[in-house]
Amino acid sequence: MAKVLGVSYLIADEVRRLTAEDEKKLKGSYKGFCNRKDCSNPGAVWYNHSTTKYYCEDCAKKINDANREEARDIFGHDLCTRSQG
Ligand SMILES: [Zn+2]
Repeated sequence: MAKVLGVSYLIADEVRRLTAEDEKKLKGSYKGFCNRKDCSNPGAVWYNHSTTKYYCEDCAKKINDANREEARDIFGHDLCTRSQG
C-alpha cells in the first residue's frame, strides 16, 4: 500500500512539474497565458510592443493606461495592441 501511495505521489509531482513548465512556456505567447507576473489569464492576444510578449485584455488596458502618452510618442499607438495572429 505504501508503495502504491508513493507511486501516486510521484505521478502527482510529475503532473505539477509539467503543468508549471507548460505554463512558463505558454506565458507571454500568443493565445497562451498573460505575461504579467501576477496574472495567469489564458487567451493572451494583446501584443506589447515593448516586451514583445502577449497579455490578457485587462492587463493590456492597464498597461496602455499607464503608458499611453509615451507609447504614442515612441510607437505612434498604444503600447499593447490586439493581435489578429
Ligand atoms: Zn493579465
